[in-house]
Amino acid sequence: MALFSKKDKYIRITPHNSQKSLVSQLVPEVPDELFAKCPACKHSIYQKDLGPAKICPECSYNFRISAQERLTLIVDEGSFQELFDDIECQDPLRFPNYSDKLKKAKEETGLHEAVLTGKAKVKGVPMALAIMDSHFIMASMGTVVGEKITRLIELAIKENLALVIFTASGGARMQEGIMSLMQMAKVSAAVKRHSNAGLFYLTVLTDPTTGGVTASFAMQGDIILAEPQSLVGFAGRRVIETTVRENLPEDFQKAEFLLEHGFVDAIVKRTELRDTIAYLVAFHGGGR
Ligand SMILES: [Zn+2]
Repeated sequence: MALFSKKDKYIRITPHNSQKSLVSQLVPEVPDELFAKCPACKHSIYQKDLGPAKICPECSYNFRISAQERLTLIVDEGSFQELFDDIECQDPLRFPNYSDKLKKAKEETGLHEAVLTGKAKVKGVPMALAIMDSHFIMASMGTVVGEKITRLIELAIKENLALVIFTASGGARMQEGIMSLMQMAKVSAAVKRHSNAGLFYLTVLTDPTTGGVTASFAMQGDIILAEPQSLVGFAGRRVIETTVRENLPEDFQKAEFLLEHGFVDAIVKRTELRDTIAYLVAFHGGGR
């Protein structure tokens, strides 16, 4: 016991700590948020150099942005009318700590769930719009995400609107078990009804779009666009490598690889998305 108390008593200031305090006196502190490390090329980029579209000036990687930032970049100012923001998660499995996690995600993102849904205009062209936000529990798809998107599609059918969805997701929301997986079928069925009504559906795959979202509505668009270098896939690389017992190519599951193999129709720079979306939706009659 004496040995332990001695340690507590005498070792108070470590060389590391004293060095740190000396350094902090000499060098002005630089807040972390001033710089962002590019996940693609690993360069440290001065935040201001990323611009409002948040694109790496070194390698053109499109940084992950919030649903709100996406709105600002894409839709006509003041045209977004948010809908279905009153649907609350029922926590069907009473999963441990899930309600706390939801509360924290709401506070941190200012969103009420992982997807923002509503009606909007892009360069005057009306559409039903959903934007998923990976900052909210990795935009996993639970009952609320599925229900909001389904109701949005039903509204689009009723009002003869084209549907545009920006996808981003880490997969199904495991805290909701089978209820989250059921959303894949529910949303897919709604997409089919929208298609049967002769309406146009456009998806924009953003980094990262994986799991159940990829396996359902992300890949059901009449036209599928993707942002440069986005990760798009179903299962993770390691899971596939161990299952098929083969090494996968380096760019496997990148948007560029998917384009080459016919899964994606075009890769569009973030700065050109607004024009492209308006053009494509208007060209297809806005669904009418
Ligand atoms: Zn970069």
